[in-house]
Amino acid sequence: MKKIKAIYPGSFDPPTNGHLDLIERGSRIFDELVVAVLHNREKEPLFTVAERQQMLEETSRRFKNVRVTNFHGLLVDFVEKEKAQAVLRGIRAISDYEYELQMALMNRRLSPGTETIFMMPADQYSFLSSRLVKEVFRNKGSITGLVPTLVEQRMRAKTSGKRGK
Ligand code: ADP
Repeated sequence: MKKIKAIYPGSFDPPTNGHLDLIERGSRIFDELVVAVLHNREKEPLFTVAERQQMLEETSRRFKNVRVTNFHGLLVDFVEKEKAQAVLRGIRAISDYEYELQMALMNRRLSPGTETIFMMPADQYSFLSSRLVKEVFRNKGSITGLVPTLVEQRMRAKTSGKRGK
């Protein structure tokens, strides 16, 4: 039988429990799932790509068919390089839909053989975004339960390091 390999691309700055929920769902559906941290041009990321990759590796180690890596440039080129058949993306609120639809259709135009598969997280994560986590954390609100413990620790370490400089 044909094995299906999917790419789950994103910024993951930082990885949240919503991302982990999707990784778990994806690992159940696909034979192989490659989580790929995108090098994008966001001006001030909280974590470097290497740091994000490492946090994802540590938190998804329990899923044996999941691998974490990073990529530059066009997603469809990366999909081709990995010889994958599908792209996994998450849909939270209706507001995600328009942007995700645009991207999925552009990717289909660039690579007609690649399918984008959308999955929904558990309801408790459907309001959760990396941006919101950073905002709450910056304003000293609790992010416990929103990100893996390891990510929360790394966020604390990062801000205390900054204060010390
Ligand atoms: P991007 O910058 O590519 O949107 P993100 O790291 O914000 O990267 O998200 C990567 C993917 O994970 C996107 O498909 C996004 O919709 C999805 N995602 C982010 N947060 C959640 C969540 N809480 N539940 C489900 N999917 C999510």
